[in-house]
Amino acid sequence: MSSTVYLNGEFVPYERALISVEDRAFLFADGIYEVVRVYGGRPFDLEPHLARLSRSAGELRLPEPDGEHLAAVTRELIRRNGLDEGTVYFQITRGVHAPRAHAFPTGTAAPTVVVLTHPLSPEALAAGEQHRREGVAAITVPEQRWARCDIKSVSLLPNVLAKQQAVERGAYEALFVRDGFVIEGSSSNLFAVLDGEVVTYPACNYILNGIARQRVIRNARELGYTVREQGIPLGALDRCQELFLTSTTSEVMPIVAVDGKPVGSGAVGPVARALQAAYRDAVRALR
Ligand code: PLP
Repeated sequence: MSSTVYLNGEFVPYERALISVEDRAFLFADGIYEVVRVYGGRPFDLEPHLARLSRSAGELRLPEPDGEHLAAVTRELIRRNGLDEGTVYFQITRGVHAPRAHAFPTGTAAPTVVVLTHPLSPEALAAGEQHRREGVAAITVPEQRWARCDIKSVSLLPNVLAKQQAVERGAYEALFVRDGFVIEGSSSNLFAVLDGEVVTYPACNYILNGIARQRVIRNARELGYTVREQGIPLGALDRCQELFLTSTTSEVMPIVAVDGKPVGSGAVGPVARALQAAYRDAVRALR
Protein backbone atom coordinates (compact mmCIF):
# COMPACT_ATOMS: atom_id res chain seq x y z
CA MET A 1 0.00 0.00 0.00
CA SER A 2 1.38 3.39 -0.97
CA SER A 3 1.66 5.79 1.94
CA THR A 4 0.73 9.44 2.08
CA VAL A 5 3.43 12.09 2.50
CA TYR A 6 3.02 15.69 3.62
CA LEU A 7 4.92 17.99 1.24
CA ASN A 8 4.74 21.78 1.39
CA GLY A 9 1.20 22.05 2.69
CA GLU A 10 -0.33 19.11 0.82
CA PHE A 11 -0.93 15.43 1.49
CA VAL A 12 0.30 13.57 -1.60
CA PRO A 13 0.88 9.91 -2.53
CA TYR A 14 4.46 8.76 -1.80
CA GLU A 15 5.22 8.44 -5.55
CA ARG A 16 4.27 12.08 -6.11
CA ALA A 17 6.27 13.48 -3.18
CA LEU A 18 9.12 14.80 -5.34
CA ILE A 19 11.75 17.40 -4.48
CA SER A 20 13.65 19.66 -6.88
CA VAL A 21 17.24 18.75 -7.80
CA GLU A 22 18.08 22.32 -6.75
CA ASP A 23 16.75 21.92 -3.23
CA ARG A 24 19.41 23.23 -0.85
CA ALA A 25 19.33 20.08 1.25
CA PHE A 26 20.38 18.13 -1.86
CA LEU A 27 23.09 20.66 -2.79
CA PHE A 28 24.37 21.81 0.62
CA ALA A 29 22.74 19.58 3.29
CA ASP A 30 21.08 22.88 4.24
CA GLY A 31 18.26 21.51 6.34
CA ILE A 32 17.12 20.02 9.63
CA TYR A 33 15.15 16.96 10.66
CA GLU A 34 13.46 15.08 13.50
CA VAL A 35 12.44 11.47 14.10
CA VAL A 36 9.52 10.65 16.39
CA ARG A 37 8.64 7.12 17.49
CA VAL A 38 5.03 5.99 17.20
CA TYR A 39 3.80 3.30 19.59
CA GLY A 40 0.36 1.78 19.10
CA GLY A 41 -0.58 4.63 16.73
CA ARG A 42 0.46 7.37 19.18
CA PRO A 43 3.48 9.68 18.81
CA PHE A 44 5.85 9.57 21.79
CA ASP A 45 7.38 12.83 23.11
CA LEU A 46 6.09 14.72 20.05
CA GLU A 47 6.17 18.06 21.86
CA PRO A 48 9.89 18.04 22.81
CA HIS A 49 10.80 16.78 19.33
CA LEU A 50 8.90 19.66 17.71
CA ALA A 51 10.46 22.09 20.20
CA ARG A 52 13.92 20.84 19.18
CA LEU A 53 12.98 21.18 15.48
CA SER A 54 12.09 24.77 16.19
CA ARG A 55 15.39 25.33 18.00
CA SER A 56 17.36 23.76 15.12
CA ALA A 57 15.49 26.04 12.70
CA GLY A 58 16.40 29.09 14.77
CA GLU A 59 20.09 28.11 14.91
CA LEU A 60 20.20 27.81 11.09
CA ARG A 61 18.10 30.96 10.60
CA LEU A 62 15.31 28.98 8.92
CA PRO A 63 11.75 30.27 9.37
CA GLU A 64 10.13 29.16 12.63
CA PRO A 65 8.08 25.97 11.98
CA ASP A 66 4.45 25.97 13.08
CA GLY A 67 4.52 23.33 15.84
CA GLU A 68 0.74 23.09 16.22
CA HIS A 69 0.31 22.57 12.49
CA LEU A 70 3.05 19.93 12.37
CA ALA A 71 1.46 18.12 15.34
CA ALA A 72 -1.86 18.05 13.46
CA VAL A 73 -0.07 16.83 10.30
CA THR A 74 1.57 14.07 12.35
CA ARG A 75 -1.76 12.79 13.68
CA GLU A 76 -3.34 12.97 10.22
CA LEU A 77 -0.48 11.03 8.58
CA ILE A 78 -0.60 8.36 11.30
CA ARG A 79 -4.34 8.05 10.61
CA ARG A 80 -4.09 8.05 6.81
CA ASN A 81 -1.19 5.57 6.77
CA GLY A 82 -2.69 3.34 9.46
CA LEU A 83 0.64 3.56 11.31
CA ASP A 84 0.73 1.44 14.46
CA GLU A 85 4.44 0.86 15.26
CA GLY A 86 6.94 3.04 13.41
CA THR A 87 8.40 6.51 13.05
CA VAL A 88 7.45 9.92 11.75
CA TYR A 89 10.24 11.79 9.90
CA PHE A 90 10.22 15.59 9.56
CA GLN A 91 12.58 17.52 7.33
CA ILE A 92 12.74 21.24 6.66
CA THR A 93 15.20 22.69 4.17
CA ARG A 94 16.04 26.20 3.01
CA GLY A 95 14.15 25.38 -0.18
CA VAL A 96 14.95 25.72 -3.85
CA HIS A 97 17.03 28.48 -5.35
CA ALA A 98 18.74 28.48 -8.71
CA PRO A 99 21.43 29.02 -9.78
CA ARG A 100 23.39 27.27 -7.04
CA ALA A 101 24.98 29.75 -4.64
CA HIS A 102 26.17 29.26 -1.07
CA ALA A 103 24.62 32.34 0.50
CA PHE A 104 20.99 32.25 1.60
CA PRO A 105 18.50 32.84 -1.22
CA THR A 106 17.11 36.36 -1.26
CA GLY A 107 13.50 37.14 -1.99
CA THR A 108 10.68 34.69 -1.64
CA ALA A 109 12.23 31.18 -1.63
CA ALA A 110 10.01 29.11 0.66
CA PRO A 111 11.37 26.28 2.82
CA THR A 112 10.70 22.70 1.75
CA VAL A 113 8.71 20.92 4.46
CA VAL A 114 8.35 17.13 4.36
CA VAL A 115 6.70 14.79 6.86
CA LEU A 116 6.56 11.06 6.21
CA THR A 117 5.97 7.86 8.13
CA HIS A 118 7.83 4.55 8.20
CA PRO A 119 6.32 1.43 9.71
CA LEU A 120 8.55 -0.88 11.80
CA SER A 121 8.17 -4.48 10.67
CA PRO A 122 7.52 -7.22 13.24
CA GLU A 123 11.05 -8.51 12.42
CA ALA A 124 12.63 -5.10 13.12
CA LEU A 125 10.67 -4.79 16.37
CA ALA A 126 11.75 -8.27 17.46
CA ALA A 127 15.40 -7.52 16.60
CA GLY A 128 15.23 -4.36 18.73
CA GLU A 129 13.79 -6.32 21.65
CA GLN A 130 16.53 -8.93 21.34
CA HIS A 131 19.26 -6.27 21.24
CA ARG A 132 17.83 -4.59 24.32
CA ARG A 133 17.61 -7.93 26.15
CA GLU A 134 21.10 -9.19 25.26
CA GLY A 135 23.06 -5.96 24.75
CA VAL A 136 25.09 -4.90 21.71
CA ALA A 137 28.70 -4.23 20.71
CA ALA A 138 30.16 -0.80 19.95
CA ILE A 139 33.41 0.54 18.54
CA THR A 140 35.17 3.84 19.19
CA VAL A 141 36.06 6.22 16.35
CA PRO A 142 37.75 9.64 16.29
CA GLU A 143 35.39 12.63 16.22
CA GLN A 144 35.24 14.08 12.72
CA ARG A 145 32.11 16.22 12.96
CA TRP A 146 31.72 20.00 13.17
CA ALA A 147 31.34 21.90 16.45
CA ARG A 148 27.53 22.37 16.23
CA CYS A 149 26.35 18.81 16.86
CA ASP A 150 23.56 20.30 19.02
CA ILE A 151 21.73 21.20 15.77
CA LYS A 152 19.82 18.26 14.29
CA SER A 153 20.98 18.99 10.76
CA VAL A 154 20.78 16.61 7.78
CA SER A 155 24.51 17.11 7.30
CA LEU A 156 25.35 13.62 8.59
CA LEU A 157 28.29 12.40 6.53
CA PRO A 158 30.68 11.75 9.46
CA ASN A 159 27.83 9.94 11.25
CA VAL A 160 27.16 7.84 8.13
CA LEU A 161 30.85 6.91 7.77
CA ALA A 162 31.14 6.08 11.48
CA LYS A 163 28.02 3.88 11.46
CA GLN A 164 29.26 2.07 8.35
CA GLN A 165 32.55 1.34 10.13
CA ALA A 166 30.55 -0.11 13.04
CA VAL A 167 28.50 -2.29 10.69
CA GLU A 168 31.62 -3.53 8.91
CA ARG A 169 33.14 -4.47 12.27
CA GLY A 170 30.01 -6.31 13.39
CA ALA A 171 29.01 -3.62 15.90
CA TYR A 172 25.72 -1.82 16.53
CA GLU A 173 27.10 1.66 17.08
CA ALA A 174 30.23 3.80 16.69
CA LEU A 175 31.11 6.05 19.63
CA PHE A 176 32.82 9.35 18.89
CA VAL A 177 35.94 10.19 20.92
CA ARG A 178 36.71 13.90 21.24
CA ASP A 179 39.66 15.18 23.29
CA GLY A 180 39.98 11.85 25.11
CA PHE A 181 36.28 11.61 26.05
CA VAL A 182 33.72 9.20 24.60
CA ILE A 183 30.91 11.63 23.95
CA GLU A 184 28.03 10.04 22.00
CA GLY A 185 27.16 7.56 19.27
CA SER A 186 26.66 8.23 15.56
CA SER A 187 22.89 8.29 16.14
CA SER A 188 22.54 7.96 19.92
CA ASN A 189 23.65 9.38 23.26
CA LEU A 190 25.97 7.48 25.60
CA PHE A 191 25.63 6.76 29.32
CA ALA A 192 28.04 4.99 31.68
CA VAL A 193 27.71 3.64 35.20
CA LEU A 194 30.99 4.63 36.80
CA ASP A 195 31.68 4.25 40.53
CA GLY A 196 27.95 3.62 41.00
CA GLU A 197 26.92 6.92 39.37
CA VAL A 198 25.21 7.48 36.04
CA VAL A 199 27.43 9.62 33.80
CA THR A 200 26.63 11.20 30.43
CA TYR A 201 28.30 13.96 28.41
CA PRO A 202 26.84 17.42 29.15
CA ALA A 203 24.37 18.91 26.65
CA CYS A 204 26.58 21.36 24.74
CA ASN A 205 27.60 22.07 21.15
CA TYR A 206 29.50 18.76 20.85
CA ILE A 207 26.47 16.44 21.16
CA LEU A 208 22.82 16.28 20.21
CA ASN A 209 20.75 16.68 23.36
CA GLY A 210 18.63 13.58 22.75
CA ILE A 211 14.97 13.56 23.70
CA ALA A 212 15.48 10.00 24.99
CA ARG A 213 18.63 11.22 26.83
CA GLN A 214 16.60 13.89 28.64
CA ARG A 215 13.87 11.42 29.56
CA VAL A 216 16.41 8.84 30.81
CA ILE A 217 18.21 11.45 32.96
CA ARG A 218 14.85 12.35 34.56
CA ASN A 219 13.97 8.69 35.08
CA ALA A 220 17.39 7.89 36.58
CA ARG A 221 17.07 10.74 39.10
CA GLU A 222 13.53 9.62 39.99
CA LEU A 223 14.89 6.12 40.59
CA GLY A 224 17.41 7.59 43.06
CA TYR A 225 20.58 7.38 40.97
CA THR A 226 23.08 10.22 41.02
CA VAL A 227 23.40 11.55 37.47
CA ARG A 228 26.50 13.51 36.52
CA GLU A 229 26.62 15.32 33.18
CA GLN A 230 30.32 15.04 32.50
CA GLY A 231 32.67 13.38 30.05
CA ILE A 232 33.43 9.66 30.13
CA PRO A 233 37.22 9.38 29.67
CA LEU A 234 38.23 6.84 27.02
CA GLY A 235 40.66 5.42 29.58
CA ALA A 236 37.80 4.80 32.04
CA LEU A 237 35.84 2.48 29.73
CA ASP A 238 37.49 -0.61 31.18
CA ARG A 239 36.33 0.26 34.68
CA CYS A 240 32.72 1.15 33.80
CA GLN A 241 30.20 -1.16 35.46
CA GLU A 242 27.76 -0.51 32.59
CA LEU A 243 27.42 1.39 29.34
CA PHE A 244 24.25 2.09 27.41
CA LEU A 245 22.94 4.15 24.51
CA THR A 246 19.73 6.11 24.29
CA SER A 247 17.77 7.24 21.26
CA THR A 248 14.22 7.59 20.03
CA THR A 249 14.41 4.32 18.10
CA SER A 250 16.85 2.33 20.29
CA GLU A 251 15.31 3.51 23.62
CA VAL A 252 17.74 2.26 26.32
CA MET A 253 20.26 -0.02 24.57
CA PRO A 254 22.88 -1.77 26.72
CA ILE A 255 26.44 -2.01 25.35
CA VAL A 256 28.17 -5.19 26.52
CA ALA A 257 31.43 -4.85 24.55
CA VAL A 258 33.50 -1.94 23.20
CA ASP A 259 36.30 -2.49 20.68
CA GLY A 260 36.06 -6.21 21.39
CA LYS A 261 36.48 -5.89 25.18
CA PRO A 262 33.65 -6.69 27.61
CA VAL A 263 32.00 -3.85 29.53
CA GLY A 264 31.78 -4.65 33.27
CA SER A 265 30.72 -8.28 33.62
CA GLY A 266 30.01 -8.46 29.87
CA ALA A 267 26.28 -8.83 30.56
CA VAL A 268 23.40 -6.31 30.68
CA GLY A 269 23.54 -4.54 34.06
CA PRO A 270 20.87 -3.62 36.63
CA VAL A 271 20.88 0.14 35.95
CA ALA A 272 20.19 -0.35 32.23
CA ARG A 273 17.45 -2.85 33.13
CA ALA A 274 15.82 -0.39 35.57
CA LEU A 275 15.98 2.42 32.99
CA GLN A 276 14.58 0.19 30.25
CA ALA A 277 11.63 -0.61 32.53
CA ALA A 278 11.05 3.07 33.36
CA TYR A 279 11.15 3.97 29.64
CA ARG A 280 8.64 1.24 28.81
CA ASP A 281 6.38 2.43 31.66
CA ALA A 282 6.23 5.84 29.94
CA VAL A 283 5.44 4.20 26.59
CA ARG A 284 2.66 2.16 28.21
CA ALA A 285 1.24 5.32 29.78
CA LEU A 286 0.58 6.62 26.22
CA ARG A 287 -2.20 4.10 25.73
N1 PLP B 1 22.97 11.84 18.99
C1 PLP B 1 22.92 11.82 17.64
C2 PLP B 1 24.14 12.22 16.87
C3 PLP B 1 21.74 11.44 16.98
O1 PLP B 1 21.69 11.44 15.63
C4 PLP B 1 20.62 11.04 17.76
C5 PLP B 1 19.38 10.61 17.11
O2 PLP B 1 19.25 10.57 15.92
C6 PLP B 1 20.72 11.05 19.15
C7 PLP B 1 21.92 11.48 19.73
C8 PLP B 1 19.57 10.65 20.00
O3 PLP B 1 18.56 11.63 19.96
P1 PLP B 1 17.05 11.28 20.32
O4 PLP B 1 17.07 10.67 21.70
O5 PLP B 1 16.37 12.58 20.30
O6 PLP B 1 16.57 10.32 19.29
